Amino acid sequence: MGPFAYRSWVEISLKQIAENFRAVRNVVGPDVEVMPVVKADAYRHGAVEVSRALAAAGARWLAVSNVEEGAILRDRGIQTRILVMADFLSAERAGLLEYNLTPVLHSLPDIAEWDRLSAASGGDRRDYHLKIDSGMGRLGTRASAPEILEAIGAAKHAHLEGLMTHFASAANYASTQTDEQLRAFEIICSELARAGVQVPILHLSGSTPVAYGRRGTWKRMVRPGHAVYGYVSQIAKGTAPPRLLEVRPALAWKAAVLAVKDLPAGALVGYGGMHRTAQPARIAVLAAGYADGIPHRLSNKGRVIAKGHWAPIIGAVSMDLTTIDITHCPPLAPGDAVTLLGSEGDVSMDAQQMARVAGTISYSVLCGIHARVKRIYVDE
Ligand SMILES: *Cc1c(COP(=O)(O)O)cnc(C)c1O
Repeated sequence: MGPFAYRSWVEISLKQIAENFRAVRNVVGPDVEVMPVVKADAYRHGAVEVSRALAAAGARWLAVSNVEEGAILRDRGIQTRILVMADFLSAERAGLLEYNLTPVLHSLPDIAEWDRLSAASGGDRRDYHLKIDSGMGRLGTRASAPEILEAIGAAKHAHLEGLMTHFASAANYASTQTDEQLRAFEIICSELARAGVQVPILHLSGSTPVAYGRRGTWKRMVRPGHAVYGYVSQIAKGTAPPRLLEVRPALAWKAAVLAVKDLPAGALVGYGGMHRTAQPARIAVLAAGYADGIPHRLSNKGRVIAKGHWAPIIGAVSMDLTTIDITHCPPLAPGDAVTLLGSEGDVSMDAQQMARVAGTISYSVLCGIHARVKRIYVDE
């Protein structure tokens, strides 16, 4: 079945994802492990396919958000280490052991609980990573080094393999928050080291501190997500050092034209009559709407690429349909495809541009692409 049998689909290049992974590796060098983040179905690029491609490209670690995401990868044959970054819910803990997943623990009682589970399961000591809340105020322990040391020491059946933290403001070079978080993290690390606890893997950085060369944060491992999918955040404030990383988006998003018709001047378009044609206009109705992930906020604001030309979104984006003005585009017919994300000729739209118009972030645009949008892997 060819792509035109679909209403809306994404075309994903696993080659580009592998290339982006290699670009990250080249920036950080051979002494820093790169653990791609494949949570949220690999930012909607397809976690199983993306994980296979990354493992084939040499990734030894992958990061997911929850146990179910890790279990799916194991069921589909992924054999790399898998770090579960945000799930130690009691109902999920047995799955960590069953699927050989490595948990990130966020509190000292979690360490005691993991120790108890590890003891009950027999065998070797079970690895875990501990997250320090170095100032983001989200997940992670805020305990002091002596308290942490006591909890680590009491857990005889568990092994502290990694110590991590997460930055709140990595793209803000006008803020000192990242430096303060780094300092708080390093103080904990050195107090642990002074007490004889050498943690093998320290990791702090997602894509942004890699892309802009914040070398002091790289330590033994980095955790890029966005960059693997071809995006580097713009610097929000302040002046960053030159960007070291060049990556390219790996996903293009298309929608089929369902209908084309001519409207007279003064006609209303869509829910609420939000748009009124000023001139006679030719419109196309696309087979995708907010249920597919097109942000509703693009109503009367966004634009798509039709036959290599910009076509504005007119009226409200509705659940399954979006209307565009193709008056100034080459002729289109039902069954033709337009591009929501990607390029045609030298006209292109990426998730960051779409996000800016919609008043959101590129992460949310990518993760918002709904499961009913078919995925096609173009270079397989
Ligand atoms: C999602 C996530 C990342 C990846 O961040 P990007 O900005 O996409 O590179 C890294 N670390 C943690 C803890 C995350 O939750």
